[in-house]
Amino acid sequence: MTLTSLYLHTQFAATAFGYLEMILVFSLMGSFIPSATLFILPFAALAYFFAPPTFNLDDPRDLPVVVAFLVASIVGTHLIGKVRREREVALEAAARLRRSEAELRDREKQWREIFEHNPVMHFMVNPTGTVLNVNTFGATQLGYAPSELVGHSVLKVFLEEDRPFVRERVGLCIKTVGQSHTWEIQKIRKDGSVLWVRENAKAMQWAEDKLVVLIACEDITERKRTETALRRSEAHLAQAQELSRTGSFGWNVATGEVHWSKETFRIFQYDPSTEPTPQLVVDRTHPEDRAAVRETIERALQNEEDFEHEYRLLMPDGSVKHLHAVVRAFRNASGDIEFVGAVTDITAAKQAEQQLRRSEAYLAEAQHLSHTGSWSWDVHRLEFVYRSAEIDRLFGFDPEQAVSIETIRSRIHPDDLPRLQEVPRQAIEDKGGHFEYDFRILLPDGAIRRIHSVAHAVVGSDGHVSELIGTHMDVTEQHAARELLEKALAALRESEQRFRDYAETASDWLWETGPDHRVTLLSEHTNAVGIPATEVIGLLRWEIARDVEAEPEKWRQHRATLDARLPFRDFIYRTDTQMGSTIYVRTSGKPFFDADGNFLGYRGVSTDITATIRADQAERELRKAQAELAHVTRVTTLGELTTSIAHEINQPLAAIVTNGEACLGWLGRETPDLSAARCSVEWIIEDGIRASEVIRRIRALAKKGEVEMAPVDINDIVKEVIALLTRELVSHQVSLRTELAPALPLILGDRVQLQQVITNLVMNGIEAMQAVRDRPRELVIQSSEDDMGRVHLAVTDCGIGITEDDEDRVFNPFFTTKSSGLGMGLSICRSIVEAHGGSLSIARKQEPGATFQFVLPLHKEVVS
Ligand code: ADP
Repeated sequence: MTLTSLYLHTQFAATAFGYLEMILVFSLMGSFIPSATLFILPFAALAYFFAPPTFNLDDPRDLPVVVAFLVASIVGTHLIGKVRREREVALEAAARLRRSEAELRDREKQWREIFEHNPVMHFMVNPTGTVLNVNTFGATQLGYAPSELVGHSVLKVFLEEDRPFVRERVGLCIKTVGQSHTWEIQKIRKDGSVLWVRENAKAMQWAEDKLVVLIACEDITERKRTETALRRSEAHLAQAQELSRTGSFGWNVATGEVHWSKETFRIFQYDPSTEPTPQLVVDRTHPEDRAAVRETIERALQNEEDFEHEYRLLMPDGSVKHLHAVVRAFRNASGDIEFVGAVTDITAAKQAEQQLRRSEAYLAEAQHLSHTGSWSWDVHRLEFVYRSAEIDRLFGFDPEQAVSIETIRSRIHPDDLPRLQEVPRQAIEDKGGHFEYDFRILLPDGAIRRIHSVAHAVVGSDGHVSELIGTHMDVTEQHAARELLEKALAALRESEQRFRDYAETASDWLWETGPDHRVTLLSEHTNAVGIPATEVIGLLRWEIARDVEAEPEKWRQHRATLDARLPFRDFIYRTDTQMGSTIYVRTSGKPFFDADGNFLGYRGVSTDITATIRADQAERELRKAQAELAHVTRVTTLGELTTSIAHEINQPLAAIVTNGEACLGWLGRETPDLSAARCSVEWIIEDGIRASEVIRRIRALAKKGEVEMAPVDINDIVKEVIALLTRELVSHQVSLRTELAPALPLILGDRVQLQQVITNLVMNGIEAMQAVRDRPRELVIQSSEDDMGRVHLAVTDCGIGITEDDEDRVFNPFFTTKSSGLGMGLSICRSIVEAHGGSLSIARKQEPGATFQFVLPLHKEVVS
């Protein structure tokens, strides 16, 4: 420019303008600072070359021009710079806008991508709950296409029961615009399956007056499942803790932080809301255990070691609990010591243990008392696996010492050893089973114990017997008792047999009746008598008898006895045999009762006494015949005595006549001698009485009356006989001597029959002395009482006597040595005496003659 201007010699103004333009152009192109730097050069060139004076810079006139140029250029440059800057800014802003637009688009795209595929479900709903937008992920998660949800109520993806809640939540969001709300809820997929979501919702202003609710949902199904599982396992753990009575705890020693499980609270009986502290444990610990617990914990703290201990708690109600605690010590992430552990309520176990211990003690005591020891024997090692204290006592083993097989054998009775070895051997061979055996223990002091053993073999996993387990019971005492019992039983059996024999021999059969008096049992012998037991069993006793109607009173009395449950003896009744013959039964019975005194019936014996009854009847007949005979002989005797009797009667009659005549004489006097007459009459009366007495006696003897047993004095009878026979004695020149013992006891007898006996003996004596001429004929009648209180009467004569041969025969009927004799006298005498329970015999006598004597027993009633 300068060169061009210099060459063209342009004017200053043109040059300056050119320069200015150049500067402005440069200013347009560049920045202000290079253009400002650039205009220094035109300024200098202009001032030097073109401002007059040219080539001179000192001319002051140049200054205004140059300054003007400078100002113009500066202003121009500045303005251009400003315009250029503004343009640049505008360009830059436009470029930035373009850039940000692209960026926004990118971002929107990105966000849309994120929105669409974000693994969070996004819903945009209007206040009525209609879905305005939903991301693909959200729709897909629910099994829908987004288009299936948009425009529909959001409630369709919720469970029916949750819909009111959703409405309420949306309403809340609308009410509190801009505020976030979170909840967890279940959503229902198109296929009906359910998922758990955590929803975060917020209402926003969308258009000017439009509100929308944005909901972001996160699928928490897995978490929920885990949570449920966790909750379940927590519940299980709590349950397990409760069931096992085991609580857990943690204790950070440094921070003092304590955690207890629910069960721990329960064990220590604290309210679960209580803040757990170590002090609570100390408070509950039994005072006696506190020191030990503290010491254990302190030691564990010092040594930082795990520990385990048992202690007791004293509960507020005074009960005691036993606890077992297992505690682990460790350092946590912060380096603090922490204890975690488990505490178990072992009260029940402790009690069970105590119970067990007590049971063991009881068992030992029971074994001791019952003399029963238990044992277990290893069949391979041949040694005891276990033996109770009682086994040691039974065998006399030292409880502290192992027992060798030799020692055991030495304690077993040698006789029992083979069997004792055989029995277990057999059990081992049989591979199991139960076996019992008896043996004797021979103690070192020689004492013997009898053992009853019960055992069984235990089969091991190899199928072979590994062990024998059993008990030994000391039955020595039982054995002795059993022996005694057996002896007693044998004795009892023998005694039973003996009594049965007695009963059976004393009777014909045994019977038993029930409480209703029906026959329940009958010994077989009844068959022999013709009463089959089978026909009688079940009958009432009076149904068997045939004399109930004939003898009602007898049976009435008998049944009264039965009703009174009294024993009865010798009850006689009549019945018929199967063959129809009548038999007589004598029966005796006794009631029997059970232990409580209940009447069970009668037991008794019966005898067929038909023969006895028949014999009695025969005897009665015989007696009758004998009495008849006695009567006949008596009458015969009387016949023999006719002379004497006539004399006995004639004598008083003659006296009566004589006295009567005398009386008449006394009365016939002029002066009747009345006193003499009276005397005569008195004698007449006496003689009359005497005569009538004789007649009475004869009548008595001749009378055929019934036998009348009555207490009589034998001396009286003797005297009566003498009175009757006095004449007979006199006529036969026999002197009579009587030696009658005074105050003899009375005997029970028939006066007439006894008179007959004595008369007979006296008459025989008189007759036996008929031939005696060389000595006085003397007859002695003696009565006496012997040591046994019996009455003796002896008639002794000094007649011809009786030869030894005749001694037995004289009592035979029809034996007589007399020509007119009947030979019935002595025979009848003997049967009379015997009927009185006595005996008649001939007494041995050295002198000539004979002594007949009889003995009569005293009757019981008479004795008393
Ligand atoms: P009986 O007198 O009718 O002969 P007894 O029976 O009384 O009948 O006597 C039988 C016999 O016993 C007599 O015949 C006589 O031989 C003998 N006897 C009886 N009593 C005596 C007596 N006291 N002394 C001698 N013999 C006697």
